[in-house]
Amino acid sequence: MSSSTSADSTMSSAIADVKENVATVLQRITAAYERADPNRRASSMPRLVAVSKTKPLELVIACYEVGQRHFGENYVQELDDKANNEQINELCPDIKWHFIGTVQTNKIPKLASIPNLFCLETVGSEKMAKNLNKACEKESRSERLGVMVQVNTSAEEQKGGLTLDEAAELAQLIDKSCPALRFVGFMTIGSLEMSQAQDGSNPDFERLAQTRNKYCALTGAAPASVELSMGMSQDFETAIAQGSTNVRVGSTIFGPRIKRT
Ligand SMILES: *Cc1c(COP(=O)(O)O)cnc(C)c1O
Repeated sequence: MSSSTSADSTMSSAIADVKENVATVLQRITAAYERADPNRRASSMPRLVAVSKTKPLELVIACYEVGQRHFGENYVQELDDKANNEQINELCPDIKWHFIGTVQTNKIPKLASIPNLFCLETVGSEKMAKNLNKACEKESRSERLGVMVQVNTSAEEQKGGLTLDEAAELAQLIDKSCPALRFVGFMTIGSLEMSQAQDGSNPDFERLAQTRNKYCALTGAAPASVELSMGMSQDFETAIAQGSTNVRVGSTIFGPRIKRT
């Protein structure tokens, strides 16, 4: 067997796996949502964001073929490459990208130029919101760019994000002073150890829900109109029980990642 044939067969088995994994994750989302307390869960079925960082285009296309539309990336250059790839544009015209990584100021114009960027989930400061707003105005995007404010619910320094009060204030600032942006909700990474605690609920997810309560109390917004992006491969079912509207699942769909340096 030539090496290219064996690479091809590895890819086709990876494609079959990924398609099956999307279906399994969607079933698990539905089951978690159905067994959740109706007073605590989201008002409609949570959205699945398939986190495709470090994974090849073929696997993104495989997910798209089975109906997946929302994808997450956390490196600006990789997102830009994928979002502008000809094959993706041809085969996945309705793809919706979520940016879920750290943004350096000098990369903001690049992000604002990505036409099918659906949501930037990691707005973490007033400066970033204002820079992003300016960049989006310059690009004259056809719609306001959806943004989420990242909350550091576990106060772990390396994870970035704001305290609960700061996040609720930043969301208000976006509403008032960033006409090219549309505030859609709050995002947290949360602490996995907390999700694995025995009682089946994660205090980080609870704090994200409290951030929303705070914002709604300040603005009069209806809680159902404000999203909560929380839950990853290891804890998305817990997050759904606690009100997640948007789960970001990578390795359970695409397999383990080789860590980048
Ligand atoms: C990588 C990543 C995910 C997905 O993580 P998995 O554990 O592989 O599901 C979700 N959210 C963010 C912010 C990430 O960087």
